[in-house]
Amino acid sequence: MKLKTLFLTLILLSYFINAQNQDAELLKAKEFFENAGVPGDKWVEGETLYPNIRPAKHFHSSMLYYPGTEELHEDEVRVTFMGSSYSPSQTQSGMSILVELGNGEKFVFDLGIGSLRNYNSFSIPFNTINHVFLTHLHMDHVSDLPYLMMFRPIQGGWTPLHVYGPSGSEPQYGTAHMMKHMMEMTAWHQDSFHSWPIGEGYETKVHEFDFMDEGGVAYEANGVKITHWPTSHTKDGATSYRLDWNGRSICYTGDNRPNSLTIKKCQNVDMLISEVQTATVSLSAQSLGMPPAMAAYTIDTSHSPGYGLGYILNEANPTVGVATHYGYDDIFINETVAQVRYHYKGAFAFGAPDLVTFNIHGDGKVWWREGVAGNSIQVPKPHMTSETITFPAPKHQVYDVINDTVEKNEIPMELWYPKGHMPQRVKEWPITKDLTLPNPWAPSKKN
Ligand SMILES: [Zn+2]
Ligand SMILES: [Zn+2]
Repeated sequence: MKLKTLFLTLILLSYFINAQNQDAELLKAKEFFENAGVPGDKWVEGETLYPNIRPAKHFHSSMLYYPGTEELHEDEVRVTFMGSSYSPSQTQSGMSILVELGNGEKFVFDLGIGSLRNYNSFSIPFNTINHVFLTHLHMDHVSDLPYLMMFRPIQGGWTPLHVYGPSGSEPQYGTAHMMKHMMEMTAWHQDSFHSWPIGEGYETKVHEFDFMDEGGVAYEANGVKITHWPTSHTKDGATSYRLDWNGRSICYTGDNRPNSLTIKKCQNVDMLISEVQTATVSLSAQSLGMPPAMAAYTIDTSHSPGYGLGYILNEANPTVGVATHYGYDDIFINETVAQVRYHYKGAFAFGAPDLVTFNIHGDGKVWWREGVAGNSIQVPKPHMTSETITFPAPKHQVYDVINDTVEKNEIPMELWYPKGHMPQRVKEWPITKDLTLPNPWAPSKKN
């Protein structure tokens, strides 16, 4: 009997010890998966990315950004390079940076040649672009502006567009002068489109500020503050900007020579975006077909070589330094990085080619991804959330501005439509007053 009890006790004890061992093993395994490979505050991982370069949990993909798949968090900022170069190519447009804030507001910095196709392909309705800030008046930074001004009302932009930019050394070199003449240049376009609802869409409001103001406020509303300072680039009137919102901060220098004011104004910002050129003038001259002397003259008077950008980034210490306005050619990329790295050891990225997208999220973490866009036409639906839409009355009918002789030369529809296919012709806007109709896209409507 005693022996049997002892035997039973031994069996129970061995089970117990075994279970304890298994628990310890499980704990060890759990601890392994929690901590192995995770630096925490025990060590530093890598040379440049630790600890602030991190994807957010809510990203649909951590490598690619698919527009329309991610709602910005309340404290988040998304920065997309809709243009990234001075010279348009298959993959790069003239400079343009879209800044989207978690409060739903959007700000555009520069609008260079070809960049609007990227706004379309990213489904950014033109009627959500209400504030455009210009760093300077070179055409690789402003030449899509007349198109935006003219087509924005067609996508429901019936309120004035606001354009901000520097004055010049004389009035004819300022933003206001350029905008006045862009409006004049587009007189034919405007009057032709005044047969459609335009409202105040062509009453562009220009906010020209003194280019010499060091830290002047270009914009301030709803907790967003955009300040500016002068910088050296080919002629008086070039400007750099800083946007502040909700503890987030982004500097964009535009084109310039390395500038001590940028170091002062952009200390510890989340993103410091600047132009960069590769300081390999004689070599790049061979590939670009530009005499080395002319390339050297252009860079040394007007632009920032990699070494200069590295110097600025090292002194300003942003979470990430971003180089743009850059012909993203494979052969020069590593050289440019090496030049930047001569002075700067922090996180570094290219704001190129087009559509590279940065998110500033959480407590100041930054991550960047390739943006994905299709090739098909994707004119986005206008952004309209109210229950009704009020169509502004057109100024005139189409055939008010086409003379009778030209109109009579039009071939009658009956001659080209197949029998039974001819729709009722819509030749006139039906009302001379504003017209309010239910909004088929109102969030309350389910379809
Ligand atoms: Zn430029
Ligand atoms: Zn320029």
